[in-house]
Amino acid sequence: MDKKEKIEEVKLKAAGCKKCNFWKDRTNVVFGAGNPESRILFVGEAPGYNEDKRGIPFCGKAGDVLDRLLVSVNLGRNDIYITNVIKCRPPNNRDPLDEEIDNCSEYLEKQIDIMKPEVICCLGRHALKNIFTKFSIQETGTISSLHGKVFEKSEDIFNRVKIVALYHPAVAVYNPGQFSLLQKDFSIIKEI
Ligand code: URA
Repeated sequence: MDKKEKIEEVKLKAAGCKKCNFWKDRTNVVFGAGNPESRILFVGEAPGYNEDKRGIPFCGKAGDVLDRLLVSVNLGRNDIYITNVIKCRPPNNRDPLDEEIDNCSEYLEKQIDIMKPEVICCLGRHALKNIFTKFSIQETGTISSLHGKVFEKSEDIFNRVKIVALYHPAVAVYNPGQFSLLQKDFSIIKEI
């Protein structure tokens, strides 16, 4: 089986997931999109209203910002794979509980295991915290101090990976003046 088939297999399993109560309100499990053969994995927080309706990650306003940021580093959606820490929309977009994050973690772990990405771009503090924990990176800074930085992890079960800390694209939805800062952080992807 190639990576695409393996990802599809896990996606099918996730489609019937009832490990937490999110299934009761969801329209779709938003498993991930893009190219599983890519060397770059983007990880966001959780699907919102639009993502839940369409089953596609980052298809609302934050997604529009993300697309502009990707274009700025000559990437398109088919050059990357994109997913979220949480695969179902939490009711009213509330923060997921630790227990709900734990329940969902097997899916992101399998996606990482199948893809074996060289670069993981974390969109926002929740994604960064989750990936740092998965890779046992003991870094206590906030996203305001860590954004634009790259953390390298090698010699573990996922092999060698570069973890990039990025602001969540929604930052530029609420504050368009911040777009250039986000763009500057994204330029690091081109370098590495
Ligand atoms: N915000 C996220 O973190 N993920 C999405 O898929 C959409 C908005």
